[in-house]
Amino acid sequence: MRTLYARIFAITIAIMFASSLIAFVATNVYYHVHLKPINDQKVTHIIQNTVSIYEQSAHQDIDEYLSTLTDLGYQFYLVDQKGNERFFGNPFRIVNLDQTHIERVLDGEVYHGIANYPWRLFITGFFSNELKNTVGVPIEVDGETHALFTRQDTVQQFGEMRRFLAVLLVVILVLSFVLVIISTRFIVNPVKKLTAATKKIAAGNYHLKLDLNRRDEIGRLANHFSKMADSLRRTEEKRQDFVSNVSHEIQSPLTSIQGFSKALREEDLPENLRQHYLAIIERESKRLSALGKQLLTLSFLESDVDKKSWTRCDIESQLEDVVSTTEWQWREKRLTVEMDTEPFTVWGDPKLLQQVWMNLVSNAIRYTEAGGTVTIRTRRDKEGGVAVSVTDTGIGIAAEETEQIFERFYKVDKARTRTEKSTGLGLSIVKKIVEWHDGTIMVESEPGKGSTFEVVLPHHT
Ligand code: ADP
Repeated sequence: MRTLYARIFAITIAIMFASSLIAFVATNVYYHVHLKPINDQKVTHIIQNTVSIYEQSAHQDIDEYLSTLTDLGYQFYLVDQKGNERFFGNPFRIVNLDQTHIERVLDGEVYHGIANYPWRLFITGFFSNELKNTVGVPIEVDGETHALFTRQDTVQQFGEMRRFLAVLLVVILVLSFVLVIISTRFIVNPVKKLTAATKKIAAGNYHLKLDLNRRDEIGRLANHFSKMADSLRRTEEKRQDFVSNVSHEIQSPLTSIQGFSKALREEDLPENLRQHYLAIIERESKRLSALGKQLLTLSFLESDVDKKSWTRCDIESQLEDVVSTTEWQWREKRLTVEMDTEPFTVWGDPKLLQQVWMNLVSNAIRYTEAGGTVTIRTRRDKEGGVAVSVTDTGIGIAAEETEQIFERFYKVDKARTRTEKSTGLGLSIVKKIVEWHDGTIMVESEPGKGSTFEVVLPHHT
């Protein structure tokens, strides 16, 4: 089936037919088990009354009497000792009564053909117009015993009723068809809209107008769908931002490298200028290479990497290494570096953790004016992990920017950082590494007074 519409329609029709069939069989079973004996009793009672009324008024003509009764909705079969038979009322469809039953009735027994009518799955005994399906009693006619068999004439008794039920059934069926067709639209249309929405998303259009007011499953689906579209839109925007930032970061050092290498071609360039240009080219290419490394680290952290490289890391000695590696930078700026640390070990990737301390300490040095102080502390936190803080007395960060500094390529002072070899990737890498180690990073800062970055790494057993 090609469409959901056709599928729902076909399923509903199939259900309707299946339930009609099951209902028919169930009512048939109900007739055979429960109603058949009751019906037999009722007919027996009626025919016995009929016989006793006839026998008490001896002058009546039996033919006339029975013919009158057929108008009340009964059919009769009368047979005498010699086998002369007469039918009254509508004819029986099948005349199939055994001679033995007739003889027994002639001998004075009552024949319960309705109660003993055999059970068949698709035949309702009630409507079976057979001579076998009757009640038979003996009757005295002109001093001679006859056998009288009778059953309700269902066509006569329930003719209108049957038509009434047939009309009811047809109306129910037609109405059901129409209503199924209409109601299917309510299910299919939102699905069609969602399909159209997926096509839009595939074509890069994330602005969807979906009916989010429905509270059912389809409403929820539409809701999740529009959230998904939103998050795809944001991811796409971030991706575009990222690409343009990367291109920009690559473009500017390349432009200066090109410019200065061209200038170096001039033959009468004084030696000191040549050295200066070469130094710039070296610095810019170092910068490019650092950017490449940072991007590689980011993509490594974003891929679903395993933690095979993890070992025990001695945090105190890592911090000491960072202080000595950056010594020429902080000495050059006449900064004081204080260390207030204890021996701690954590479980993690040593190179990446080293990079966290390196980035934090370099930032502290870079954003602190000459004569300032950088303090590195460690302490055990409440849960047994280690908290490492790097405090400076530098320029600080405005409160509204403390969240954004962890975003990729975010720089507070674009003009200043441009000249200071900064890429805006350092803290986003720090955050990713810390989170990869199940840790947290916090910043407290006051513009003009300084900042404290604190990394808490959990205690892994
Ligand atoms: P960058 O390479 O520019 O230093 P980061 O991601 O490390 O990139 O830092 C993002 C921005 O956060 C920096 O541009 C700077 O403005 C601000 N910042 C980072 N550390 C400090 C600090 N210790 N003091 C003041 N500002 C800081």
